[in-house]
Amino acid sequence: MPIRILPPDVASQIAAGEVVERPASVVKELVENALDAGADTIIVEAEAGGKRLIRVSDNGWGIPADEVEMAFERHATSKITNILDLDTISTLGFRGEALASIASVSRLSVDTRAQGEHHGTRLVIEGGRVRSREMVGAPQGTVITVENLFFNVPARLKFLKRDTTERGHMGAMLIRYAMAYPHVRFRFIHNRQEQFNTTGSGDLLDVINDAYGGDVAEQMLRVEPVERSLRDDLPSVRVWGYAGDPALSRSNRSQITLFVNGRWIQDSSLGYAVVQAYHTMMMVGRYPVVVLLIDVPPDEVDVNVHPTKAQVRFRRPDVVFSAVQRAVRGTLVEQASTPRIRGQGEIRWGSPQWAARRDRLTQVTGQRLNQLGMDMDMTDPGQHPQHRQPEETAEGTPRRKRDLPMLRVVGQIGGTYIVAEGPDGMYLVDQHAAHERVLYEQFMAEQADDVAVSQDLLEPVVVQLRPDQMALGEENLDKLDRVGLQVCLFGRSAVQVRAVPALVASSDPVEALLAAIGEIEVGDMPTGATAEQQLVARVCKQAAIKAGQVLTFAEMQALIRQLESCAAPKTCPHGRPTILHLSAQQLAKEFGRLGAS
Ligand code: ADP
Ligand code: MG
Repeated sequence: MPIRILPPDVASQIAAGEVVERPASVVKELVENALDAGADTIIVEAEAGGKRLIRVSDNGWGIPADEVEMAFERHATSKITNILDLDTISTLGFRGEALASIASVSRLSVDTRAQGEHHGTRLVIEGGRVRSREMVGAPQGTVITVENLFFNVPARLKFLKRDTTERGHMGAMLIRYAMAYPHVRFRFIHNRQEQFNTTGSGDLLDVINDAYGGDVAEQMLRVEPVERSLRDDLPSVRVWGYAGDPALSRSNRSQITLFVNGRWIQDSSLGYAVVQAYHTMMMVGRYPVVVLLIDVPPDEVDVNVHPTKAQVRFRRPDVVFSAVQRAVRGTLVEQASTPRIRGQGEIRWGSPQWAARRDRLTQVTGQRLNQLGMDMDMTDPGQHPQHRQPEETAEGTPRRKRDLPMLRVVGQIGGTYIVAEGPDGMYLVDQHAAHERVLYEQFMAEQADDVAVSQDLLEPVVVQLRPDQMALGEENLDKLDRVGLQVCLFGRSAVQVRAVPALVASSDPVEALLAAIGEIEVGDMPTGATAEQQLVARVCKQAAIKAGQVLTFAEMQALIRQLESCAAPKTCPHGRPTILHLSAQQLAKEFGRLGAS
């Protein structure tokens, strides 16, 4: 085929693909426009996950009647006039692309009345072509209604997910803007049901409370807005917001939310700065809940690097990195609770009322597994392997070939590793990884035997979920059920946990659910694992004893015995080692005993 210039409508649909990926991107662009127009109330309505309808209404300053058509032209913007303006940009938009893009892939109508004008304007555009224009009565502000998104781009339509998922993305997007603009009131309505409603009080903590619930809000520490500049010649960076107490942790980074100059950004390096600030205060593999607003001089940051503007480039990334890290670290050092002192020796299981619930659960369970969820075999702690009775399984069937020799527990170091002696040297066992493996295999065995894997909670627990978690949960109810987590919907932003996997019955059901949902989100298992195995592994990981937990001798022995009887004792379900071996030979060599007499 010869080279040809694409017809304008095809070109604009292709360009639209960069900006408008899914309903949430439409919401993002329209909300940014509303914020740029100085609105303090923004209402977002959607139907059928935004596929049928998205409507964003604002009370901003509106579009002047003689500029309405212009607003829908590509590269038409009131926000910058030349490229140098980008250095001092204070608005969220600047490319003049969003409205043109959205209008080219939907049926769009706008009702707007500008400040100081007496009449409003209504414009209807279909697939990028203006269909009608009329004068209407309208309050000051702008209402943009987007119907049948992607009706003319079937390839894109095909990639949209289920309504609940798309609704979740829209909700998550809105929550972020609500956090960055706490003085703006946001309402989100989906299929005529209110999803959330922020107060616009101006207090970020109120929004965190609306988004994540009171349990979380209570554990947030305020990062005071201090100008942080290392030296006079370096840009000053202001960092403020909220950082979760280290006792509040998540299985992935999805609740580290960062804004730069009011713009939500995804930046793995800054995310890492936050995680580093928690170093030694939080288990490796756990992530904090953090909302940070970072302000830098506009000429220090290039916002024009990505079509969705979700990535930025800093002129001095090192300066921003260290400002973030120091702000968070300083807050934690000053304000974080001392782990393990609180609750008088009671191990904290995430949610505050857990101790009480667990006690009630214990009463019905009768024979309560201890907090480790293990059957304790208390015979002769410290017994040497040679003197042990021949191994027999419960059913008396011969045990399969061992992968691990019988080990004698010597002790625990760092509250984290168990030191053991075997016939061929010394073994170091990672108690957390080992317990994960044990739980995982027991779990899988029970499931294979069709033993009831779940245990009803005496009192169902209601868990508030973020919109994106809600969507994932809703979509995966059956998967959760198969691993023993019986969950049903409870309103629009919460679920009720009715039963938990029996093996982890003694751990917090809330944490178990959140861990499972987290797994659906990240899925960090070696490839080849089934979705179900992944969920089980995640739940086991969450329920397993943690590093830093002091164990009694009997507990260590029970754990080692159970590890010995695992089919694959040497790695945890996620593929990390459970055990290190230093052979007698290696020891002799290291001590220079080989050949010595
Ligand atoms: P950009 O935001 O990059 O300027 P858009 O295509 O999103 O580009 O919008 C084009 C122009 O339309 C904006 O520059 C602004 O002048 C006007 N506009 C869009 N939405 C609104 C709104 N909700 N209120 C007032 N003006 C708006
Ligand atoms: Mg815009």
